[in-house]
Amino acid sequence: MRLSAYFMPTLKENPAEAQIVSHRLMLRSGMIRQQAAGIYAWLPLGYRVLRKIEQIVREEQDAAGAQEILMPTVQPAELWQRSGRYDDYGKEMLRFKDRHEREMLFGPTAEEMVTDICREIRSYRDLPKILYNIQWKFRDEVRPRFGVMRGREFLMKDAYSFDLDKDGARRSYEAMFRAYMRTYARLGMTAIPVKADTGPIGGDMSHEFHILAETGESAIFFDQELEEKSRAGELTVDSMNQYYAAAEEKHDADKCPVPAERLRTMRGIEVGHIFYFGTKYSEPMGAVVQGPNGETIAAEMGSYGIGVSRLVGAIIEASHDERGIIWPEAVAPFKLGLINLKSGDAACDSACEDIYRTLSEQGVEVLYDDRNERAGVKFADMDLIGLPWQLVIGPKGLAAGVVELKNRKSGEKQEVSLEAALARLTA
Ligand code: ATP
Ligand code: MG
Repeated sequence: MRLSAYFMPTLKENPAEAQIVSHRLMLRSGMIRQQAAGIYAWLPLGYRVLRKIEQIVREEQDAAGAQEILMPTVQPAELWQRSGRYDDYGKEMLRFKDRHEREMLFGPTAEEMVTDICREIRSYRDLPKILYNIQWKFRDEVRPRFGVMRGREFLMKDAYSFDLDKDGARRSYEAMFRAYMRTYARLGMTAIPVKADTGPIGGDMSHEFHILAETGESAIFFDQELEEKSRAGELTVDSMNQYYAAAEEKHDADKCPVPAERLRTMRGIEVGHIFYFGTKYSEPMGAVVQGPNGETIAAEMGSYGIGVSRLVGAIIEASHDERGIIWPEAVAPFKLGLINLKSGDAACDSACEDIYRTLSEQGVEVLYDDRNERAGVKFADMDLIGLPWQLVIGPKGLAAGVVELKNRKSGEKQEVSLEAALARLTA
């Protein structure tokens, strides 16, 4: 992509309405624009990141055996009347009527709808099933804030498991737990799983996943060893049980089993939440199968959410510096920013065109800054948008046979031959 043609409306000034760094950087780098409180349009740069996150989430759901569906954003109230949640859900639910005076709503989540769909499953032989969708949700939050972190409209991956019995439900839960750990590790993030409320069901089958960042809304307390295991992406529900992790409301300093030198107290951003809830929806809504002896069995269910759009902000909160965003390579909108220090100079232009073509042909995503701007502006914009690598092409370097390759994260700059730079970028 050529920056001269790209729609990337950057801002020089910090937008006054943005209280936290991710919101500021997303607005400044032209990733999103607000359309109403908590409702955002995703511009090209932001949408590329959102799609990359979505794709990693999708691949790990598929690998765990979940099957993708797409449910509508608009739901009939009737479904929620059947589960009994229509009146309980309160003001966060956006309700409206269609032209026939039928009550409708914009889905805040989809337990009811997916349960209704799974009434199609008639025999115990057809279980288990895990279905998921990645779809926009709407919750009329009291205080939408922090940009996409607490929006009213937001993109969520929500999966739902259907099993014959509690053992099966546990296996599905464990498969999802492992998929979550792998997903966050692939995104380049360490997410700490924290046991959450299971309500009347009890047990250890509800976890929230938190990315550590100062601006997180929750305080969490955890064993430092848990962080090390989480980073590797290999935790399971059982191995997790060996480590302590609790949210503020649950943590009791006097009863904490972790020695003080290993206890970490940090703030976290909730980027996922999974739980098992038994037959809460399947029973009232009739998602039942016929068992081996002709008996009627209500499916044991769990649900598994990931805040896909919130993750964009959460990753920035966890990975930035005073100059801008530092994208982990897996979710970066482009891998490389190619900076032409002297657009209009024949040697610089032709070298850049060659590099741009060569790398693009090899599948490297390049954002080529071919604009007629001062070098300082180009450097500042590249640092702001946080691509993992920058390749700087200038007349002096070209004359000496070198280019400059900069790593955005470490800040390390190397003067190398063009061949060496290309080899590094295509490795
Ligand atoms: P929170 O406690 O942050 O309000 P929640 O517990 O209501 O979230 P869940 O119903 O568990 O959220 O939804 C699953 C995931 O969706 C959350 O872990 C979070 O990452 C994301 N999410 C929830 N609400 C929002 C929102 N308003 N904006 C962006 N993402 C959200
Ligand atoms: Mg939650």
